[in-house]
Amino acid sequence: MTLIKTEALILKNIAFKESSSILQLFTKDYGRVSVIAKGAKRFKSQFRGYLEPLNHLSVIYVHKPTRDIQILTNVEIIHTFIPNINNIEASTYATAILELITKIIHTNEEQESLFQLTLDSLNFIDNNLKNCQTGFIYFLLQAINLLGFKLNLTLCPICSNLIKDGYYSSFHYELICDQCMQSGDIQINKNQIDFLKKLESDFNHEISYIDTPKNGNNIIDFLLNYTGHHFEIYPKLKSLDLLKYL
Ligand SMILES: [Zn+2]
Repeated sequence: MTLIKTEALILKNIAFKESSSILQLFTKDYGRVSVIAKGAKRFKSQFRGYLEPLNHLSVIYVHKPTRDIQILTNVEIIHTFIPNINNIEASTYATAILELITKIIHTNEEQESLFQLTLDSLNFIDNNLKNCQTGFIYFLLQAINLLGFKLNLTLCPICSNLIKDGYYSSFHYELICDQCMQSGDIQINKNQIDFLKKLESDFNHEISYIDTPKNGNNIIDFLLNYTGHHFEIYPKLKSLDLLKYL
């Protein structure tokens, strides 16, 4: 048994028995970790009020390698993201980030850079509610690159020509040029490609100076389809369904 102290984001909180909660954490040092917060729902619990998704915490838990669920012993709050859940668009994109992390990150896998990217993207969404879609696209693009599936935004992989107005081919799982496109491909126009290139080269996470071009939903569909293919996951995010009703 080891006592572990690390930073964590709460991905999910599931009620367990009468008074406890099981939490899915994205930790800075150990990737995805499940912990049980015993007695968390009791009125006098030290955990009460701290264990909501999107909370950034400093946590201490007892780790035993033979156990799937570790025991949480202490939490301190660092930051609450999107405290104003009345902003449906911002909370939807923030929740979609958590949903994607749950799908692509494994247990006991150190992901410090991705952890920092997640915090920076959530911070951006928090501080730029009107431009929150950019924060989500930024997260997708940088996460894809960080995890080793860098996008090709410049040359068409079929004819080697420069891509100006591009199309995402869900047959080749690549961005291709307008000469090679086929019906059903998702159009990603020149403005959108330039936008993605700017976001891609922003290593310091200074996302705020870039506006989202029109039809950001096309970009999201393209990046999620690409992610689904490379990570072998179902690419739709349930969290994003909510936006259809806005
Ligand atoms: Zn081509």
